[in-house]
Amino acid sequence: MKNFDVAVIGAGPGGYIAAIRAAQLGLNTVCIDEFKSPEGKPSLGGACLNVGCIPSKALLESSENYERVLHKFSDHGIRADNVSLDVPAMLARKDKIVEQFTGGIGLLFKKNKVASMYGHGRLTGGGEFFQIEVSENDSSETITARNVVIATGSAPRQISGVNIDNVRVCDNVGALSFAEVPARLGVIGAGVIGLEMGSVWKRLGSSVTILEALPTFLGAADESVAKEAWRIFTKSIGLDIRLGSKIGAVKAGKKTVSVEFEHEGSLTKMEFDRLVVAVGRVPNTTNLGLESVGVKVDERGFIEVDDRNRTATPNIYAIGDVVRGPMLAHKSSEEGVTVAETIAGQYGQVNLEHIPWVIYTSPEIAWVGRTEQQLKEDGVKYRSGQFPFIVSGRARALGETAGFVKMLADAESDRILGVHILGPFASELISEAVVAMEFGATAEDIARIVHAHPSLSEAMHEAALGVGKRFLSL
Ligand code: FAD
Ligand code: NAD
Repeated sequence: MKNFDVAVIGAGPGGYIAAIRAAQLGLNTVCIDEFKSPEGKPSLGGACLNVGCIPSKALLESSENYERVLHKFSDHGIRADNVSLDVPAMLARKDKIVEQFTGGIGLLFKKNKVASMYGHGRLTGGGEFFQIEVSENDSSETITARNVVIATGSAPRQISGVNIDNVRVCDNVGALSFAEVPARLGVIGAGVIGLEMGSVWKRLGSSVTILEALPTFLGAADESVAKEAWRIFTKSIGLDIRLGSKIGAVKAGKKTVSVEFEHEGSLTKMEFDRLVVAVGRVPNTTNLGLESVGVKVDERGFIEVDDRNRTATPNIYAIGDVVRGPMLAHKSSEEGVTVAETIAGQYGQVNLEHIPWVIYTSPEIAWVGRTEQQLKEDGVKYRSGQFPFIVSGRARALGETAGFVKMLADAESDRILGVHILGPFASELISEAVVAMEFGATAEDIARIVHAHPSLSEAMHEAALGVGKRFLSL
């Protein structure tokens, strides 16, 4: 029987990073994964590389290019006539990027001497060593490991009575592979996936209706960002978002799908060519044999861990989407590093307070730290500086002037408590705020640091100046 220092179950951004880091630290490590590509081949990288972050961002970029050429190039004096869309070529580019990245994980495993096993991993018992059965179809092999890292990720949450066929009614998997642009796209859930995928297909020509159960839009974001994003998404971009919708019968036919829903007191029925269901994700904790080793899950199915990702069973750790905290790839990966270093006798911990969030819409939304509404609720005294991109020379040159950077700082200490961005390259700009907050910086620190001109980062500089009521360009 093969015996390892560390067995990682799941090769998503949490698991593969944990395995690589553990091997780098001299631990004999195996990573077990059961994901198969649509062609039925084992494919490392989890949801993120196969059917999440990477393919969605590839399509996002393609659809933004299409929109630029159609609607924005003329402002620059560039004429492009007879522009047409080749959806199969767009999908092939996306698939190639996915293939390169998923294949790359195998190479990284080889380079770092991580053993890779394909199949479903299930714990069958413990002691000094844990036993893990790895099965594929009718064959199975049992291995043992002194330490186990559970990184089994998440799966789309289902709505009862709605059958996902990934043809007419899709989750994220189908939504990334429509063979042609649906004339009418319905989306259930105005969360991150709904907004990102809805925007992609809208830019490519679909008429998009998003049905959201909650009466508020983007409740996790800062209210001023959510309010301005709502205005841009509904008025300028033309997404038809219906808040407070209660979904009724969903019936898929051969060519269309009908959705009944209650909205503003009346029952409505809409017909779509495709429907995407994106109502959150649930942790993959079933059929893992957790009970055989005494690992507990909470009432929502998440594995219970402490602030260093240790379960109550010594030497069993859990990371990523399968535990508390935001379901984000970078959070999973950092937890992977944490547990590998902990197993190797070092110290590791992820600061969940400073995880950056990004929503890849256009304009992008990004934030770190606390929102203004949270500070108010907690009675924290704060000061705020908000700088609009319309005053940024670089944003003007880009032709992307919507949105702003908003900084919140403690009224007494001036320490930065939160930064919220709606605008171009918010995903890149947010890193400055994360670094600043990790180092306990004040708004004045950012205000006194030289930012290149002309750059979008000047908006961060000005927002920091604004906290001290001393804008220089506003
Ligand atoms: P996963 O990536 O889910 O990987 C878990 C792996 O474990 C999978 O391969 C699974 O097949 C395997 N597995 C499960 N059970 C077993 C078992 N018993 N035995 C063997 N293998 C098993 N996050 C971002 O930060 N940025 C983004 O831009 C972003 N975009 C996204 C877009 C979409 C459409 C989706 C769906 C998600 C997106 N996410 C994004 C979220 C991100 O994909 C997840 O947070 C991340 O993949 C979680 O990583 P993980 O390693 O915890 O789990
Ligand atoms: P989400 O939690 O972001 O949004 C789900 C939305 O569906 C919510 O607004 C919720 O109120 C709504 N909803 C729930 N039940 C409903 C119902 N019955 N009818 C109508 N609306 C309903 O979840 P998601 O968009 O599915 O994404 C899942 C996770 O994947 C996210 O939490 C995020 O962590 C991750 N993700 C991240 C990125 C990124 O980092 N850019 C991109 C995509 C996904």
